[in-house]
Amino acid sequence: MKQTIANVTLLAYTPDPVRVCALAARTCYSALPLVELMDKTAADQSAFLRGVIRSGHHSVLEHASFTFYVSDVSRALLAQLTRHRIASFSVQSQRYVSMSGGFDYVIPPRVSALGAGAEEKYRAQMLQMADWYREWQNAFGEDPGANEDARFVLPNACKTRLTMTMNARELLHFFSLRCCSRAQWEIRALAEDMYRLVLPIAPAIFEQAGPGCVRGACPEGSRSCGRAGEVRERYRLMREEINHN
Ligand SMILES: Cc1cc2nc3c(=O)[nH]c(=O)nc-3n(C[C@H](O)[C@H](O)[C@H](O)COP(=O)(O)OP(=O)(O)OC[C@H]3O[C@@H](n4cnc5c(N)ncnc54)[C@H](O)[C@@H]3O)c2cc1C
Repeated sequence: MKQTIANVTLLAYTPDPVRVCALAARTCYSALPLVELMDKTAADQSAFLRGVIRSGHHSVLEHASFTFYVSDVSRALLAQLTRHRIASFSVQSQRYVSMSGGFDYVIPPRVSALGAGAEEKYRAQMLQMADWYREWQNAFGEDPGANEDARFVLPNACKTRLTMTMNARELLHFFSLRCCSRAQWEIRALAEDMYRLVLPIAPAIFEQAGPGCVRGACPEGSRSCGRAGEVRERYRLMREEINHN
C-alpha cells in the first residue's frame, strides 16, 4: 500500500474511503439495516458522495483517514504543520534522539540561489551550531536531561521526521490553506505532494481540493498572489495527469 512522493509516504488509509463516507451519509437518510446499506453502496458511490460534498455535509468525510510518514523537513515546517489541530502527530524527539553526531538540515532555495559561496557559509553556520550543541552536551555530562537542553541551540533548519494522520475533511482544509501560493514554500511543497498521493485514491473527495482559487475567486483578497488562472491550470493538469495514470 506504501506510496511515496519526494519526502512524504502514504503509509495507510481507510480502505474504500468513498464507499465508507457514502455509507456514513446514507446512514443519516435511510431506515435500511446495515446489510442492505452495504448492498446499496456496493456500486460506485462517487456521484452520490459528490452531491453530499456539494451540499456542504462535510462531516461524513471524517470517517476516512490517511496516515503519512514525512521525513527530511525542517523544524520550521513542523511548527506550521502542528498548528493543524485536527491532525494527529508523532514526531522524532530531540530529547530522546541525540544529535551529537551532527544534524541534517534543510537549505532554503533562496540561500542556494545566492550561489556556492552562500551555501558554503550556511553550511559553516550549521556546523557551528552542531559544535555548540556538543559543547552543551559535554557540559551537562551524564545528566539524563542533556539532550533536552543542548537542543536549545539547534536551528529551525534542523531536519525532522514524523508520522501524521488526517481525516479527509481536515485534508481538504489543509490543502485549501497550504497549497495556496501564500503558504511558505516548504509546507506548500509537502501539501502538494500529499494531494498527489490522495487524489487517485478518492477522486470524488479530492478532485475539487487545493487552494481556494481552484474552486472560485481567490479568498485572499488584497493579499492574493494574482496568479489564480495559472494556479487553476496547474491543478487541472495535476488532475488530468492522475486520471491518465
Ligand atoms: C499563509 C498562512 C500564514 C499564516 N501566518 C500565521 C502567523 O503569522 N501567525 C500564526 O500564529 N499563525 C499563522 N498561520 C497559521 C494559521 O493561523 C492557523 O493556525 C493554521 O493554518 C491552522 O489552521 P486552522 O486553525 O484553520 O486549522 P486546524 O487546526 O486544522 O482546524 C481545522 C478547523 O477546525 C476548526 N477548529 C479547530 N480547532 C478549533 C477550536 N478550538 N475552536 C473552534 N473551531 C476549531 C476550525 O474550523 C478550523 O478551521 C498561517 C497560516 C497560513 C496558511
